[in-house]
This record gives sequence, C-alpha cells and structure tokens, in this order.
Amino acid sequence: MKTTQISEHIWSLRTWMIIPITVWVVVEEDGVTLVDTGMSTMAKGILKFINRLNAGPLKQIVLTHGHPDHVGALKSILHHHPVTVFAHNKEIPYLLGECSYREGKKPVATLIHGGVKTFAHDNDGELHAIGSLKPYFTPGHSPGHVIFYHEQDKVMLAGDLFSSKHGKLRKPLFTPNMKEVLNSSLVVGKLRPKQLEVCHGHSVFNPADQLSDYISEESKKLRTAVVSADGSDKPSSL
Ligand SMILES: [Zn+2]
Ligand SMILES: [Zn+2]
Repeated sequence: MKTTQISEHIWSLRTWMIIPITVWVVVEEDGVTLVDTGMSTMAKGILKFINRLNAGPLKQIVLTHGHPDHVGALKSILHHHPVTVFAHNKEIPYLLGECSYREGKKPVATLIHGGVKTFAHDNDGELHAIGSLKPYFTPGHSPGHVIFYHEQDKVMLAGDLFSSKHGKLRKPLFTPNMKEVLNSSLVVGKLRPKQLEVCHGHSVFNPADQLSDYISEESKKLRTAVVSADGSDKPSSL
C-alpha cells in the first residue's frame, strides 16, 4: 500500500487491484477520520498507518458510498475500533443489505442496524460537517453518493463522482445514471477546490478549470448514446 501526504491534513492510502483503490486519512484536532475503507485486504495496512501516524485515535469513518471497493475493510476495522460510521441516508439500505445496487444481484449486508448514522442536515438539505469534512450530496454513480470537501486544505475527496487520467477529469466507472453524475459534478464549479482526489485515479489540480469541457464532452457522448439507443435523431437535453 502506498501512502502519500496530499495536503497539510490529508493522507492518501492506495493499493492496486487492476485499478488503483484509494482511501484517505484526515487529521483532526482530536484524532483522525477515515474516508472510505477500500478492499478487505487494506484493513491491516490502514490500521498500521493510523498507528504510525501518531495523530490520535480513529474517531469515525465516513463513506462516499457503499460499493464493495469502498466498504471492503469496514467490518474488519470496526472489529478493532468500533467507531461511528456515517453515510448518506439514501445509501443506508444498501449498506444494511436491504437492497442491491445491481438488479438481480443478491444484496450484501456490510453493517448492522444501529451501526451507521446519516449525516445531519439543515431544513434546506445542506449536510453538516463531520470534523473538518463537509459532505455534499452528489448522486448518480450510486443513489446516496457524497463527496467531502476539506475547506482549510481546499481539497475535494470526490470518491467515484469522477475517475481521472493524466490530471484530467474522466467519468466514473460503472455508472447507472450518467446524466445525474454530470449534474452532481457542478459542485466542483461551486467550491472550486485547489485539488480533487478520486478513488480510482490520480490527483486533478484546479479541476474547475476543465469542468465545462468535461461536461460538454460527456453530454455529447450521452446524447449520441441516447440517439443510437432509441433510433431517433432527436437530441435529449442534459
Ligand atoms: Zn463506486
Ligand atoms: Zn469505486
């Protein structure tokens, strides 16, 4: 597992299983927050790293979403450190094994009832920060996907809202609702992070500068796909 300090308070921990798989450790005043947990094989390495970092105990785990490559090490980490896990409420039925991400696939329970909390929110739906990380609801890749923004470091931990290649934003892998993903990606223009990190790819610096090119390119592909799927030449709006 490769560990890299990506900003003053954030470390990325990465392994490779055909594609890179990344989790993040965020240093808080009273301990550390783990963002996603990666594959089950990463559990030992993550705990060892937190120990070695010597920045205090693991305080909580926050999840961008519940796909298996983001929650694989969760059970094992909780076995050693029974901390609170936070996820968006739309993601919780999947984490509890009440429904499955893919039609026809058997649901898998990663957590038990009471083992996961939802993010608190205002009346207008704005999610409250957990430590120094503010979640933003960014559905499309999964129903309750969120990104986390570290205001002080100006870093966005974008989970699977994007992938990236050679410093460029790319669409996420296996995404049921690309139209919704493109709509969610507008959060990058709103927050204008200095640095954006994805689970399956490398850092993207000043991502807001390339956002409109990314959206127009992917919208074009989406329209072409819709046109060829329904046989009409009528472009669908984004
Ligand atoms: Zn995913
Ligand atoms: Zn993923």
